Amino acid sequence: MSNAVRVLIHGASGRMGQALVRLAAEHPGLDVVAAVTRRAPSPRVVDGVAFFAASELSGVPAFDVAIDFSLPEGFDAVLALCVARKAALVSGTTGLSEAQRAALADAAAGIPLVWASNFSLGVAVLAELVERAAAALPGWDCDIVESHHVHKLDAPSGTALTLGQGAEAAGATPRYASLRAGDIVGEHLVQFTGLGERIELTHRASNRDIFARGALHAASRLAGRAPGSYRVRDLLD
Ligand code: NAD
Repeated sequence: MSNAVRVLIHGASGRMGQALVRLAAEHPGLDVVAAVTRRAPSPRVVDGVAFFAASELSGVPAFDVAIDFSLPEGFDAVLALCVARKAALVSGTTGLSEAQRAALADAAAGIPLVWASNFSLGVAVLAELVERAAAALPGWDCDIVESHHVHKLDAPSGTALTLGQGAEAAGATPRYASLRAGDIVGEHLVQFTGLGERIELTHRASNRDIFARGALHAASRLAGRAPGSYRVRDLLD
């Protein structure tokens, strides 16, 4: 394990965090050296992974990259830790405030980082299709409907906002609608409506492992890079 990238997982007890801890164990190039949760966990070591409470963050062992899928209230501390330790950051936490987005941009001067509202390959392709459709269909209505499980706190989803920003840059004026129902992992419909015709572009995630695998891949590619703000597509093979 001497050449493995040392990883800290922040938000480790959450839905995404649990997937990250499980799938990191299958990733030969990654070694999880710390898992951080909001409250002090018990037991402290699970399957060889050491757990820490958020209040103990400053005392975690040395790491090369933090993977953060927590909540906006936990984000500032992990960003500050990465800057202080000069470690890389992969974050998928959505619902960040303007100030947090600005802090992320500032931090890119000192550390390599990637923030993405969605780490799935399918959504990266959807974003390209949306931009193409928006540019080709001036004057059409553009509506983005996102559906997620009832525990999701932010709305519209970070992914819906990212898709909307791309559509806006290509000339559309997107509107948003959010549904919270059952255990839906994540669905995004981008609908372009003209007079007498309509295009519907839909992505459905049925398993959150796709996001975790994407984030782990990004972490393995990001560690050791020059400081800067990277996109997921910059870190593909
Ligand atoms: P969750 O509520 O199941 O888990 C949240 C985790 O954050 C928990 O482990 C909790 O202990 C931890 N946490 C909360 N406050 C904290 C604090 N102050 N300090 C440290 N840790 C804290 O949520 P989830 O479904 O796992 O989603 C987590 C985040 O990831 C959300 O913002 C969600 O929107 C986002 N998400 C992003 C993607 C993507 O591809 N970018 C995919 C799915 C989810």
